[in-house]
Amino acid sequence: MSDRYYKTQGIILRTYKLGEADKIAVLYTKDYGKIRAVVKGVRKPTSKLGAIIEPGSLVDFYLYRTGGELQKIIQAVNINGYKRLKSDLDKLNEAFAILETVDRACEDSNPSTEIFTMLTNVLKWLDTYDKNIRLVFPAFCLKLMLIEGAGLVVDYCIFCNKDVKLVAFEMNENGFSCEKCRKSRRLSETTINAVRQVLGGTLRNLLETDSLLEVKEFELLSVSAMEHYLGAQIKSFKKSVSIF
Ligand SMILES: [Zn+2]
Repeated sequence: MSDRYYKTQGIILRTYKLGEADKIAVLYTKDYGKIRAVVKGVRKPTSKLGAIIEPGSLVDFYLYRTGGELQKIIQAVNINGYKRLKSDLDKLNEAFAILETVDRACEDSNPSTEIFTMLTNVLKWLDTYDKNIRLVFPAFCLKLMLIEGAGLVVDYCIFCNKDVKLVAFEMNENGFSCEKCRKSRRLSETTINAVRQVLGGTLRNLLETDSLLEVKEFELLSVSAMEHYLGAQIKSFKKSVSIF
């Protein structure tokens, strides 16, 4: 068999139509990072792949290496469609925001096991639990920025470099400031502690906590920081008016 055929597991980030009956799927795969692949005839009613090639699903792919930018999906087997997640609008909002962010933040063909694992873990969390749903996407943003080498500085004041109590988020500096130096509005201590908790540990640490967190403040901080990093808005995320 030709070595042009290969297998990998991946999450479908998004799909779009191509021609009459085909689709292009953008995947985040375990072994190859983000790739684009054509699925022939998938929009025909007879296609068995139609129900599998759906954003936010974890799939075993059998692909053909075309030599060009677009790969070709030969076969796809569903591993987890996260059906429970997809029947809940709040969870879906978080999941779609996560998928869009990975698509925007990650370059093609630059694999990261850490990102793939984190992506499958957050989808699994949304599919399994009803706890701390609105913390999932913001916490994911903080962690993804850290993996991409743009983590927020939360160990010392970004202006005076002192290890003092931090009270405000300074978006342009990608970090936090003390009372003496702050240029931005004061944040609650629990919000800053939650950022510290996510960056110093795992997402699960925060998601499993019975948090007293002011969700909106944590959400705005994390998502705004990610949008600032991307230089683009995350369109599928519905949030309140920015306070930064
Ligand atoms: Zn300072």
